[in-house]
Amino acid sequence: MKIGIHSMVWVGDWTPDAARHAISSSREAGYDLIELSAISPETFDADLTAKLLAENDLECSASLGLGPATDVSSEDPECAARGRERLELALNLVRDCGGKMLCGVIYSALTKYSQPATEKGIRNSQETIAALADKAAASGISLGLEFCNRYETNVINTTAETLRYIEEIGRPNVVAHLDTYHMNIEEHSMAGAVREAAAAGKLGYVHVGESHRGQLGTGSVNWDEFLGALKEVNYDGIVTFESFSSKVVHSTFSNDLAIWRNLWEDSMELATGARGFLRERLGH
Ligand code: MN
Repeated sequence: MKIGIHSMVWVGDWTPDAARHAISSSREAGYDLIELSAISPETFDADLTAKLLAENDLECSASLGLGPATDVSSEDPECAARGRERLELALNLVRDCGGKMLCGVIYSALTKYSQPATEKGIRNSQETIAALADKAAASGISLGLEFCNRYETNVINTTAETLRYIEEIGRPNVVAHLDTYHMNIEEHSMAGAVREAAAAGKLGYVHVGESHRGQLGTGSVNWDEFLGALKEVNYDGIVTFESFSSKVVHSTFSNDLAIWRNLWEDSMELATGARGFLRERLGH
């Protein structure tokens, strides 16, 4: 098992100074991996990032949420095409940084929809992910589909829906990306969801996030149940700590996630606390 941390615990952008700070701090706080934010891949210095990762002996993954203008689940072919272009840049970013996983809300926009997804929209989404998966496979990269709560996508909201979506496209390198923050809203059972994904051979990436997106163990997520289930199924993939506060702001992502209040001030205190919390419960 590898324990990661989302870059937005440290920084809201990815200037050279921000990259240096986030990567060295992740290592200092005891993490194995940093999850890079690939929201604006065209502005990202992958060569510098790869160099900093190597210097700090840190691995990486990358994630993003598409926006309404790049929504691959849109019925509008131009909108879906813009989304595919964005995803291909993000895939190149992961490859050039030496990562093996591109995850997040890459199958729709990360937004509050005002109606259910349409059949045609879902078809656009699945065709996009299938084609991206084939490109990713050439670089040994997997795609993790992060299903979200109902207020952040209308395509997949539960583990069961995600497994069905993945089965329909039939690509071996597409996996379910489980996030406790979303699961805490939508699942009947945290442990049941973990077991179901593992039984399908598709438990491929995990975000640990508290119910209010602050420090682990200070909200209402049932950690004993969820982390116990990861151990029970012998999960040995990546577990990334995700937490957001108005202390660290990204120009669009913070608003997309509705980060309106300050859950913490000190990134290092948060990161080391979460690392200790996970080590105590996972033995890693
Ligand atoms: Mn997440």
